Amino acid sequence: MPAQILNGTLVGEALKQDVAARAAKLIAQGLQPGLAVVIVGDNAASKVYVGSKVKACQALGLHSEKHELPASTTTDELLALVQSLNARNEIDGILVQLPLPPQIETRRILEAIDPLKDVDGFHAINVGRLSQGEDALTPCTPTGVIALLDHYQIPIAGQHAVVIGRSDIVGKPQAMLLLHRHATVTICHSRTKDLPAVARTADILVAAIGRTAMVTGDYVKEGAVVIDVGINNLTSPDEARRVFPDAEIPQRLEGIAKRGYTLIGDVEPRSVIEKAGWFTPVPGGVGPLTIAMLMQNTLKAAVMRRGKA
Ligand code: NAD
Repeated sequence: MPAQILNGTLVGEALKQDVAARAAKLIAQGLQPGLAVVIVGDNAASKVYVGSKVKACQALGLHSEKHELPASTTTDELLALVQSLNARNEIDGILVQLPLPPQIETRRILEAIDPLKDVDGFHAINVGRLSQGEDALTPCTPTGVIALLDHYQIPIAGQHAVVIGRSDIVGKPQAMLLLHRHATVTICHSRTKDLPAVARTADILVAAIGRTAMVTGDYVKEGAVVIDVGINNLTSPDEARRVFPDAEIPQRLEGIAKRGYTLIGDVEPRSVIEKAGWFTPVPGGVGPLTIAMLMQNTLKAAVMRRGKA
């Protein structure tokens, strides 16, 4: 039987509705949660991400503002902006969109953000708190994955979770969050030996690699839960015919013809759907959860720092 879909669009909407309802209560008490998003340079993908974050805030009644700086911005100039946002009481969350241009010292910027406003959860204080299992602002994408599993009541405790990817943004915090939910966790990366064999031991397999359709059916145990975090562009019609299930091919080819690409994750849908018990589509899987979690973190930051409730 083909795998069942973990529908991130649906779950993300439900979570955003919940944020909107809780935000409305805070606003009635005179507290409007506010998010400042900072973007440096002209990265097209970053512009799309920032745009959808600001739009989501507006839809939920949160204050949002976008700060756009030129690609030539220096570390000191960006630090000055972060510090001015730290000082403003009505700003609860500060998100500096990554990647930053090469002349900017990214770590210094992330460490300059007030940990209480660090809605991306990348500050060393929040990384440390997450590692200690204490309440913290945690990175949006891996937190969204846990929310998705919880929504579908997929058990985590006692399961073997294999996370492919060890980035600070996804892989490492994902492993930590699964560990705190009592999974047995294996972290894999580019130097892991016989990756397909390790992946096949997973009850829950998370792919956060950034390589188009790398995880094939050969990596998946029968009935496993497969979470595809990757977002990649596929431009070749022949590749699209090879990696997507028959039913999806016409719409994918249309996407390539119109825009020049179709979105695909790190998982090869055609072969994995035949093996997995559950899987996340791309688009419409993990992506919408990331934005929903950002909204939730902004609300959480507002309540932590200046909430009465
Ligand atoms: P990254 O490049 O920082 O990390 C990739 C990780 O994959 C590394 O740890 C590396 O060791 C591992 N890796 C690379 N090649 C490998 C191989 N051949 N075999 C095994 N492991 C390998 O990327 P990231 O920031 O963690 O993002 C991963 C993917 O997730 C990207 O496609 C990115 O676009 C996507 N992403 C999606 C969302 C979302 O909202 N859905 C959010 C963040 C990132």
